[in-house]
Amino acid sequence: MKLLKLSIASLKDFFFDLFFPIHCLGCNKIQNADDPDKYSCQPCFQRINIRKGFECAFCASPTSQGETCPFCRKDHFLDFIWIAASYEEPLVKKMLWALKYKFISSTKAPLGRLLIRFLKQKNKDRFFDSYRSEIVLVPLPLHRLRLNWRSYNQSELLADELAGEFKLEIAVDVLDRIKSKKPQAEIENKEERIKNTEGIFICRQPEKIKNKTILLVDDITTTGATLDECARILKEAGAEKVIGLVVAKG
Ligand SMILES: [Zn+2]
Ligand SMILES: [Zn+2]
Repeated sequence: MKLLKLSIASLKDFFFDLFFPIHCLGCNKIQNADDPDKYSCQPCFQRINIRKGFECAFCASPTSQGETCPFCRKDHFLDFIWIAASYEEPLVKKMLWALKYKFISSTKAPLGRLLIRFLKQKNKDRFFDSYRSEIVLVPLPLHRLRLNWRSYNQSELLADELAGEFKLEIAVDVLDRIKSKKPQAEIENKEERIKNTEGIFICRQPEKIKNKTILLVDDITTTGATLDECARILKEAGAEKVIGLVVAKG
């Protein structure tokens, strides 16, 4: 089933490429359709700024490694947030948008490389080398109806890129999304946002994450509430630590 879905996604990309020549989303130059990084040419990719500092996922105060600050730790479950780039970077914004709404799954390649560049720049590859057997990549799941509509889960595509690069274990069926929700950005009130995420995820295979450090991968975070709800479910199921990893914060 998964293979079928992926091949439908690549078929869509194939026809898209055939009828619409590919332009770099940064400088608009025409690109070779076979190039996995066609949506971001090398010079444009290199110009993307990796985020310098880390911050708390919930109050955005600067923290040394993206850990949740002592104040927010009291009522949150996510231990760290790692944000690769700014959503204000026009090329990052366009690639995320293409991945999410334009069915262009091949933007996963440059976005995956951006995550890899970020993780290496922050020496997280050394962290993976030291703790490889204790780390599991978990992509943020999509609701089944949305998955059928888009035919791929963008977070899973990104997590796949990381699993390949860093030789990390990936568990795609651990978290399941059983309800959809209103987009978090549409809800102003903090309590409402927390309520909005309640009961939308369940953990299917707790044995895969027991005592593990989870690298929870998503394309974008806004308030951190969805990542936090996943962290709550994962920890209830036995996970030791949960680190959110996103391309950008919107
Ligand atoms: Zn370019
Ligand atoms: Zn905080």
